[in-house]
Amino acid sequence: MAKITLKNVIKQFDKTPVIHGVDLEINEREFVALVGPSGCGKTTLLRMIAGLEEVSGGEIFIDDHLINFVPPARRGIAMVFQSYALYPHMTVYENMAFGLKIKRTSKQEIDTRVREAAETLQIDKYLDRKPKQLSGGQRQRVAIGRAIVRDPKAFLFDEPLSNLDASLRVKMRMELANLKAQLKSTMIYVTHDQVEAMTLADKIVVMRDGRIEQVGHPLELYNNPCNKFVAGFIGSPQMNFIPVTVAKADSDVLTVEIDGINDRVCLALNQGNDIAAGERLTLGIRPGHVALCQTSDKDSSKDHLILSGKVVVVEYLGTESFCHVRLGSGQIIIVRIDGNKRLQEGESINLSADSNHAFLFSTDGHRIYSKSSPNAKVA
Ligand code: ATP
Repeated sequence: MAKITLKNVIKQFDKTPVIHGVDLEINEREFVALVGPSGCGKTTLLRMIAGLEEVSGGEIFIDDHLINFVPPARRGIAMVFQSYALYPHMTVYENMAFGLKIKRTSKQEIDTRVREAAETLQIDKYLDRKPKQLSGGQRQRVAIGRAIVRDPKAFLFDEPLSNLDASLRVKMRMELANLKAQLKSTMIYVTHDQVEAMTLADKIVVMRDGRIEQVGHPLELYNNPCNKFVAGFIGSPQMNFIPVTVAKADSDVLTVEIDGINDRVCLALNQGNDIAAGERLTLGIRPGHVALCQTSDKDSSKDHLILSGKVVVVEYLGTESFCHVRLGSGQIIIVRIDGNKRLQEGESINLSADSNHAFLFSTDGHRIYSKSSPNAKVA
């Protein structure tokens, strides 16, 4: 199993930079998910590690070996593509055996490895079929099996489940989780699906515009995002962002006023801060940290911001529901409510937002406050 290290990795396509000096360390046996908006460079980074794309600058190491100029076949890495990339004229067995045949592995060794992998992936019944006789999920298993038989130092997955329908994705996600536990291999996984990233990864890398915004355990990113971008990207539904203005900035308490409705919330700070009254900020609060409440008394709780609004729509999901609420300012925020609670469109409701879970971001998206690090100017 391999450790993969990227040092100041740069990629340009026709002199257009798309990866701007990425540093990243992926430890042995770690499952790392690369996430970020479309076009941020996830696939390009993966392809550079696989050797399918030249590196324009910087260094990539597998363990302590610089691999910038090592051809893909000699990197000991297996890549699984979204499109499966199976040979249509070959059977499942032949597809899985192909890479080993090229390496002149003995017939017996090939047979043992193919049958073992097929059993692990529960495709042993289909070894004689051609890819077109398989479902999408079965084809993806063959593609994964083809990677497993090579016994690679690391697996690279490029959105392997995105061609599957929703229920199959959930099933395959669980199978990948089992596989991860079984293979104990280094894995890098590109996905658009943050549920996949949150459930599978030991470490998530959030990218934007060819740069890494934050790296951390899924819960670290969820609870302690370093900026507004990460806060908005991790978590579904997204964190609510509410424009506020600083009403009063004492050394230990910051009072902010919600733009357009003048409701105030006080946030306790540990020490002095350099935020001034009148400064425009964004208050961030997750849907799960806002609750329905009976009172509209704004002074009823020190730690909670009481808001009033009207129900726009409720997404009933069974165990929980997401209620979209229009505040007096016109802004819509999302609130997680009990799955059995029924609300009418247009109904007036009061909400209580727990300021212990609030974040404040500057206009340029830097995090300047959260309860876990009240005075942080997070880089
Ligand atoms: P998605 O989530 O949509 O798959 P991504 O994050 O994987 O996107 P990449 O496919 O790595 O993004 O692309 C990063 C940037 O590089 C994009 O702006 C893309 O247009 C550009 N790019 C990718 N491949 C090439 C290429 N062969 N030639 C020129 N530009 C390219």
